[in-house]
Amino acid sequence: MPFFDFHTHTSISDGHAAPLEMARRCQQNGYSAYICSDHVDEATVERRVPEIVAACLQVSRELNLPAVPAVEVTRVAPERVARVAARARAMGARLVVVHGETIGDFPQPGLNLAAANCSDVDILGHPGLITEQAAEAARDHGIHLEISAAGLHGMTNGHVAKVAAQVGARLVLDSDAHRPEALLTPKRARQLLEGSGLDLDHLLRVSETAPLAILARRGIEVPIHQPTT
Ligand SMILES: [Zn+2]
Ligand SMILES: [Zn+2]
Repeated sequence: MPFFDFHTHTSISDGHAAPLEMARRCQQNGYSAYICSDHVDEATVERRVPEIVAACLQVSRELNLPAVPAVEVTRVAPERVARVAARARAMGARLVVVHGETIGDFPQPGLNLAAANCSDVDILGHPGLITEQAAEAARDHGIHLEISAAGLHGMTNGHVAKVAAQVGARLVLDSDAHRPEALLTPKRARQLLEGSGLDLDHLLRVSETAPLAILARRGIEVPIHQPTT
């Protein structure tokens, strides 16, 4: 079964562990790949993306675990999100998460809609009290809305799930882990999705179909190990 997490942080930005340490725990928890999505903004995108790319090369070499360089565009004004996302991608980030309008901190209003209208974005992270308009824009641009395992960011998971179902937008579950012990396990992932109010059918779509769709959209190939029966 595929098991992915598109939103994790390391000491490259504000995480507490080195990429290799995070990746080791991902491997122990049964992840199909390691995805490093450290924070970037206009001031840090130029130096952090090369570090993220290098860290992923190191992980795939040392751990024999596929590793995908990504970013979380964080604390960027709505009108500049597209520019930073494009720059991150041009520098080697293969996936782009945007730090959405969580109720856990004070992001700028308009950020959800700006991210949802940007085709360089893959995931709108913890979108808080997202509007139907922003969810529809995300749907139309092939962007997944995030169910978050992280504290206050996850307080609106039920709302995000409800709005996504109303407009037909797609969901994905991420940890937003800043330390190894906050990474997901299959059991925890299931609890979080059930706790967001998803029925079994929708739950399976989110945990299996969504991650593969996100990777396929960018042509990222990750071998999925099938359990031997
Ligand atoms: Zn952070
Ligand atoms: Zn984050």
